[in-house]
Amino acid sequence: MPVCAQITATHLTSEQPAPSTQLASIDRLHGPLTDPHPAHLALLPVLTVCPPARRLAPPTMSGSGHKKILIVEDEQDILDLITLYLEKEGFRTVSAKTGTEGLRQVKQEKPDLVVLDLMLPEIDGLEICKRLRAAPDTALLPIIMLTAKAEESDTVIGLALGADDYVTKPFSPKALVARIKALLRRLERKPDENLPQYSYGNLVMDLARHEVRVQKKEIPLTAKEFGLLEQLLRNPGRVLTREILLSTIWGYDYYGTTRTVDVHVRRLKQKLPSLSEAIMSVKSLGYKLKEL
Ligand code: CA
Repeated sequence: MPVCAQITATHLTSEQPAPSTQLASIDRLHGPLTDPHPAHLALLPVLTVCPPARRLAPPTMSGSGHKKILIVEDEQDILDLITLYLEKEGFRTVSAKTGTEGLRQVKQEKPDLVVLDLMLPEIDGLEICKRLRAAPDTALLPIIMLTAKAEESDTVIGLALGADDYVTKPFSPKALVARIKALLRRLERKPDENLPQYSYGNLVMDLARHEVRVQKKEIPLTAKEFGLLEQLLRNPGRVLTREILLSTIWGYDYYGTTRTVDVHVRRLKQKLPSLSEAIMSVKSLGYKLKEL
């Protein structure tokens, strides 16, 4: 790949060639090479020919905001390439090469977004996605899935299970970075503090007045129905699990069952027929509001 060729040409002498993937992984394991530990040098002689700077260009930071990205990918070359591009853009990265390790890193590192390969050793990407969505503290963690062309039917399942976006292999690292930035930007959109309202088609939710209007006609909702609609409007396109809805609307100490959510969604759809198709049930997980 072009980037690999560039690293080799810039950073390594021709007498001591080393695969660029090795360079990237050494770098990541041992950090910047300004003050290498002698033991590391003995183990990894290739380090002695690497200049201190490892970036191809100064970090641009544009849109990254030092966000931490977890990359779960078992193919070393792809992992290194994604890592390189993300770090070049000012992101912090952590990685995992198996499903089990990926789940552990989510807990330990608390990343801002996960790039998740579909086919992984131990636990596959679909199962990871499902588990993350089912747990309250990771239910809204942004996930971008990596899939191969042949796995496109799995991609559909992945999106249904709560992945926010997907990229098909082979992909351009630049395109992946652009998708990551776009997703983070989209999820950071907040309603205007001075104008606390959401709109969706001909519906307007006014948080200050605690009112919902459709074509300017007020629709009376109960407090729970209002809360449910607010969560959906706040997170268009995202899967909201029944557990998340229960804990945010009913509170953590609520003793009811997740069926309560289904009953309220049904009532909300009856009161707002214009949203009845837009509020979609997501197999075995919860609900999502279709993005306009
Ligand atoms: Ca794989």
